[in-house]
Amino acid sequence: MSKTEFKIEGEEQTVRFGALMSKLCVPYAVKNSKSILIFLEGDLGAGKTTFSRGFIEGCGYEDIVRSPTYTLVEPYDFSDYSIYHFDLYRLLDPEELEYMGIRDYFEKTSVSLVEWPDKAHGLLPEADVRIALSYSQNSRNVVIESSVLSQDELDGIASC
Ligand code: ADP
Ligand code: MG
Repeated sequence: MSKTEFKIEGEEQTVRFGALMSKLCVPYAVKNSKSILIFLEGDLGAGKTTFSRGFIEGCGYEDIVRSPTYTLVEPYDFSDYSIYHFDLYRLLDPEELEYMGIRDYFEKTSVSLVEWPDKAHGLLPEADVRIALSYSQNSRNVVIESSVLSQDELDGIASC
């Protein structure tokens, strides 16, 4: 398990951090034909959606990235992979995930970004990457843990 911790100041840096993560995670998913699961943890306003926007824009998406607060999931299909952006804040019953056909999402070459993963109460597979965002005045503290990215890759992100 590799792990790193650093600080990001300002919204633009969170967007950039998201884009940098997409450059590591998407090639990994495509190369291995895998579905990668990224858990985004942190309070309301910590920057989970901002990070996701950076990630999705980093994949070349040029339209507006909407928060999936009401839809629970927003899919983005690219030529050889998909990005699924989940926001489970409003999930009332984890069984709703079954009705959504949650399993199908994890059978395709994809990266899933999941805000509020705890609301799924264990109905999601284990995360490949766990990102915790927390407040620190006008900046944010970031902790990344991953079982698929190397320590060198994480150190590279931390020093950007
Ligand atoms: P969440 O999805 O976690 O509820 P959002 O991304 O919607 O959070 O909102 C985060 C808020 O914090 C936005 O107003 C954004 O401009 C701001 N923000 C994001 N990243 C940073 C940062 N690194 N430093 C300071 N403010 C940030
Ligand atoms: Mg959000």
